[in-house]
Amino acid sequence: GEAEAYVACLQDVSGLHNTRAALDRITHYDPLTGLPNRSLFRDRLQQLLESGGDQGGVGVLLLNLSRFRRINEGLGHTVGDDLLAAVGQRLRHRLAAVNTVARLSADEYGILVADTRGPSGLDLLAQRVLSWLRSPFNLHGHSMHLGAAIGVAISPQDGTAPASLIRAADLALQRARTGPGGPVCFATATAGAAAFEHLILEQALREAIQNGQIRPHFQPQLRLRDQKIMGAEVLARWHHPSMGLVSPGRFIPLAEEAGLIVDLDLAIWRAAATQWRVWIDAGLEPGRLAVNISPHHFAVRGLIPRLRAALAEAGLPASRIEVEITEGALLSPLADVGARLERLRALGVRVAIDDFGIKHSNLVRLLSLPFDRLKLDRFFIEGADRDPRKVALLESLVDLTERLGLEAMIEGVETPAELALAFATGACYAQGFLLGHPLKPGAFEDRLTAQA
Ligand code: C2E
Ligand code: MG
Ligand code: MG
Repeated sequence: GEAEAYVACLQDVSGLHNTRAALDRITHYDPLTGLPNRSLFRDRLQQLLESGGDQGGVGVLLLNLSRFRRINEGLGHTVGDDLLAAVGQRLRHRLAAVNTVARLSADEYGILVADTRGPSGLDLLAQRVLSWLRSPFNLHGHSMHLGAAIGVAISPQDGTAPASLIRAADLALQRARTGPGGPVCFATATAGAAAFEHLILEQALREAIQNGQIRPHFQPQLRLRDQKIMGAEVLARWHHPSMGLVSPGRFIPLAEEAGLIVDLDLAIWRAAATQWRVWIDAGLEPGRLAVNISPHHFAVRGLIPRLRAALAEAGLPASRIEVEITEGALLSPLADVGARLERLRALGVRVAIDDFGIKHSNLVRLLSLPFDRLKLDRFFIEGADRDPRKVALLESLVDLTERLGLEAMIEGVETPAELALAFATGACYAQGFLLGHPLKPGAFEDRLTAQA
């Protein structure tokens, strides 16, 4: 019963261990900063949520560096990479003991907080993180101060699973980046619901454009001297099956934001131009068709070919068209706005400035850019019969316009007193509810017939 010998088998598995560790690093860590990557971030969040030791709730902070792209493009990718690593190091150094710091994508970092001590504790933390980033990073002879946007979500109110919490923090981050509330925004159940509603509306709008639910209405434009209809402005109306008639004030900004505006305008131009052709062929003489062009058209290529194609399809000559652009479009960062307007006019289209005088009016542009007509914003005529200062402005603007060889049109005439005043200023043209509301095609046709 006594042991005579021991036999031991040994195998050196350090190689295997090292390989496993290396593999783990590759799959769970970001090579540039050495921080956990998105998948480990998610795992750690899952563990925190499961461990339940989070009386104060688990907090998720998503942080996006501002101006990083500019630094990366301006100073080169080596500086960019080193900066990302330095940011990672600084965050890890200050936060490591209690929190997970991860690099989630290009210039986005995530921070997990196990015991948040409520929103105010997280707000404090976010502000501290911002101040750490503000003290300069010295790299390759450059001294860089960074800013960031931070989106914050807390369990359980903003979500109880990793995916929903991260999504909530991400929505908050979007607001922090673009909204007035930044640079730190909190997710709230309401913010999530609003975004969801927005998405549904956006999807509905997309379908509406395809299904022809966005239809043209026509608002008469009159010559003041004899109150003859010289044309109409086409205004988009959304006939929604359950919401009823939705106004452009609501869906144009949505279409611009969702990148649908080019398609929307194209659909309206086509429908309106086709209708115009029908009236011309019927001998009704509708005059000129004014179409609105969103400033967003000036940020993408292809405005002119698209307009030309829509007109060709309808068989309408370009000389029948006036495009209305707002002053904002003239501020487009693409410097060739003037050249584009020239090319529009070379097509034979006329150009009008819409809502002139209330926003970015720069009188120098009146000399440098090619226009045919100024539409003086409703602001000037509204209540002008009770405000002599408005009369002074209006008269001078009309005078200025006509001396520059342009046509003046007064927008938004609503009362007989305003109409009398519009006439007295010497302006040639006017538009407004008194002279005609935006009308369905049938109703506008009746006006044309009555005048014929
Ligand atoms: P806008 O081009 O300045 O069009 C004139 C707006 O003023 C229209 O509103 C019209 O209904 C309204 N209006 C006309 N006369 C009067 C008046 O006497 N009193 C008052 N209070 N308002 C008057 P709407 O149809 O709601 O359109 C709002 C804006 O939406 C338009 O302003 C235009 O910028 C944009 N929009 C409308 N349709 C389109 C479109 O097809 N494409 C693009 N890109 N924008 C459009
Ligand atoms: Mg307009
Ligand atoms: Mg207008």
